[in-house]
Amino acid sequence: AASAADSVVSSAKKTPTAIPSDSVINLARGDPTMYQPYWRRMGDKCTVVIPGHDLMSYFSDPGNLCWFLMPELDDAIRRLHRVVGNAVVDDDRYVIVGTGSTQLFQAVLFALSSPQNPDTEPLSVVAAAPFYSSYPEETEFLRSGLYKWAGDAYSFDKDGAYVEVITSPNNPDGTIREAVANREGGKLIHDLAYYWPQYTPITSKADYDIMLFTFSKATGHAGSRIGWAIVKDKQMAAKMVKYIELSSIGVSKEAQLRAAKILEVIAVDCASSGPDKEENFFEHGHRLMSDRWEKLREVVKRNGVFSLPKYPRDFCNFKGKDTDSSPAFAWLKAKDGLNCDNLLREFKIITRGGPNFGVDSEYTRVSMLSLDEEFNLFLERLAEIKGATN
Ligand code: PMP
Repeated sequence: AASAADSVVSSAKKTPTAIPSDSVINLARGDPTMYQPYWRRMGDKCTVVIPGHDLMSYFSDPGNLCWFLMPELDDAIRRLHRVVGNAVVDDDRYVIVGTGSTQLFQAVLFALSSPQNPDTEPLSVVAAAPFYSSYPEETEFLRSGLYKWAGDAYSFDKDGAYVEVITSPNNPDGTIREAVANREGGKLIHDLAYYWPQYTPITSKADYDIMLFTFSKATGHAGSRIGWAIVKDKQMAAKMVKYIELSSIGVSKEAQLRAAKILEVIAVDCASSGPDKEENFFEHGHRLMSDRWEKLREVVKRNGVFSLPKYPRDFCNFKGKDTDSSPAFAWLKAKDGLNCDNLLREFKIITRGGPNFGVDSEYTRVSMLSLDEEFNLFLERLAEIKGATN
């Protein structure tokens, strides 16, 4: 895992100025700074002004089951999903806002495991390896009696209640996934953080019982800490709301208002047509991502030390044509069983190694969402590795 010192480098102030060529580049986290130049170009289009007397109450919509969700955000979320076509948001679905989808993941675990019968075992939480490294950490950190991390869904064979987290496209390896635990009766959480057109073809409207999305990866505004769940069952939704009520009495209204504005601007841009139509956010994001992937594949092919997964091309309903996947992370594999994370560290590239995701150290995860300057430096250093290992 990256050390605290590494994180400091990664979160250090990032300006468009040149990065010293000998500095450490931290690509261990998926900090989506790549989108910043786009939003800078948008100028005041998304500016939100909040007078001192505004947004003071705890409550946003007392009549709604999710009483702290601002109606503006609810509307913008549903509108954007309708425009993109990546999730069913019919009126009978509950939208629940959280402080990032990180809080919602914990709210779901609480909702699925309570009230607990004192005689029953904690709910087992599984995900197919390689899985998002935060799931085990978030599940275990409070040593809850309600639920416990039970590892790789492929090898899960315990009795009792379980929940499988399905991340699609997957973090870290970008694959499209379905449930794999070989048992009846499990509950499913679909984490769709990356089910947006810049990362993957949108092949159908997701229509699962519990779906998680995040503002962080949709638009790049990770600092606002806004995520949302789309939930079919009312009781489930009510328990999730209870969790958020107990842990933070709701979600920042300033953040919700900003998210609502930005999501609405994107939805309007995507829905508009005409000769003067500018490239919308997702078209821009997809062009940027596929350009990066092309460059990365070229370097990997030339140096022969690593390999990358291949993704099928598919028809994207949003773009109306066949498109390639361009995941938010590169899942690099070092040939000859080398420790990939360590190898890259020798070249001052910090990544997150396979063992964090439940697999071998020949794999490592590299963020594809950094600023251009960092990404280019990463490619330059990667290209140098050939000579060093031959
Ligand atoms: N799920 C997945 C699969 C993620 O990759 C991330 C962010 N790295 C999250 C959830 C958490 O997102 P948020 O910033 O909304 O807490």
